[in-house]
Amino acid sequence: MASINTPNGTAASVPSGDGVGCHAGKDALVAAANAAGKSEVLDRYAADYPQGPHDQPQSMCPAFGSLRVGLRMRRTATILSGSACCVYGLTFTSHFYGARRTVGYVPFNSETLVTGKLFEDIRDAVFGMADPALYDAIVITNLCVPTASGVPLQLLPREINGVRIIGIDVPGFGVPTHAEAKDVISGAMLNYARLEAEQGPVQAPRTGRAQRPTVALLGEMFPADPVGIQRMLDPMGLSPGPTVPTREWRELYAALDCAVVAAIHPFYTASIREFETAGRSIVGSAPVGYDGTEAWIEAIGKACNVSRSAIDTAKAQQLPAIKAALAAKPVKGRITLSGYEGSELLVARLLVESGADVRYVGTACPRTRWSDPDREWLEARGIHVTYRASLENDLAAMREFKPDLVIGTTPVVQKAKELSIPALYFTNLISARPLFGVMGAGSLAQVVNGAIAGKSRMDEMSAFFGDVGTGDKTGVWQEEPEDHPEFRAAYAKKLEKLAKSKAIEEAV
Ligand code: SF4
Repeated sequence: MASINTPNGTAASVPSGDGVGCHAGKDALVAAANAAGKSEVLDRYAADYPQGPHDQPQSMCPAFGSLRVGLRMRRTATILSGSACCVYGLTFTSHFYGARRTVGYVPFNSETLVTGKLFEDIRDAVFGMADPALYDAIVITNLCVPTASGVPLQLLPREINGVRIIGIDVPGFGVPTHAEAKDVISGAMLNYARLEAEQGPVQAPRTGRAQRPTVALLGEMFPADPVGIQRMLDPMGLSPGPTVPTREWRELYAALDCAVVAAIHPFYTASIREFETAGRSIVGSAPVGYDGTEAWIEAIGKACNVSRSAIDTAKAQQLPAIKAALAAKPVKGRITLSGYEGSELLVARLLVESGADVRYVGTACPRTRWSDPDREWLEARGIHVTYRASLENDLAAMREFKPDLVIGTTPVVQKAKELSIPALYFTNLISARPLFGVMGAGSLAQVVNGAIAGKSRMDEMSAFFGDVGTGDKTGVWQEEPEDHPEFRAAYAKKLEKLAKSKAIEEAV
């Protein structure tokens, strides 16, 4: 622990070593961050991203969400400020997912953290990078330890040489999932762009300003989905606007310029606040399956004052084709489903309309009113929906419902396979497909039915391998590992003795 002087003059203790944060010391970090002047941002995160049983990152570091958004934007530089191990992991994962961009890093040690020199170093790095020929914006992210120590990114200049400077805190102890970290950065950018637009003219989109009223799409989606959505909007005289998170700064203005926002992913609370402040209305759920598409076209049409006949035309063009596509590619089998992308309820709706017997939907994201139509639709069919689902929730559902297929996160899939239950990764295999309208209907059948049909192979593999590679025998060994229960018994005795003498000491 190191002691720092906080902006209000009090001293606060900050865990200064690597390896604290997501694995230990959450309470200490929260207390330190509050004492160091970050209570406003932590309070806002607590309101925007309410915590539940899933109040600690159970998957990847949340900052990966915001980092990836920045790395995907043109003319945007990213700088991380955090422990070396965190930055190593985040950089590694970024490049694993094909970032092809430099991730900037301002390292620190106990001294620079404690004395406030770290902030000066960040400031120097930002000034050094702010070249308007190269960048529209620079995003600096405080990870856990710099957030806990109150590194005041809000004191950075708003702009240097015309380059926008965006400082965000994305601590694992304040932002529960990487999905919500995407909202942290999108909300910060929309806020900046909205204030710019209020000051005067801003840059037009690359392809010019839209001729029709647009529907901004909130949430990352499969590249073909906006094309399918365009076909739905066309008869109503509307066009899809940019997808937020955007791929370029100027798209932020076009997104704010929309007629209505479609909250396809329901957890973008800070972004929605910016859109609402700009006077835009929000439509929840998404055009998924027959019922979802029908309700979504109706809601979007009404929000944009489209005539009844145009709304009905849009429906007439989409709905029969969706019904036919769903009927042509049925899904048979019992499924439990969970993930951390925010689209879990939508995928479940599509599976149910395809004929699957879905029993449980878990999402690491929080409940918001934008997914209420999906939750209500699923619950009306007796399906259990859990928000902020923990790994334990997902595994309990798998044990209870004995599904033919488990769709889930890596540890859930791993557990299912151990039990010879066919399983698919939500992120890689399910959410990387079109989900909406005609293209979405039937898009899951092949992969889902194929996995369910593989059950006999799973049984054969389990019978062949038996308990090889389980427990202490996991891994590749030259010789068969020998179990030593006597060592564990001896340690247990020692620990018991230690606990007893500690209790006596405390009582004296
Ligand atoms: S920054 Fe991410 S990896 Fe590092 S301690 Fe925080 S949550 Fe964990």
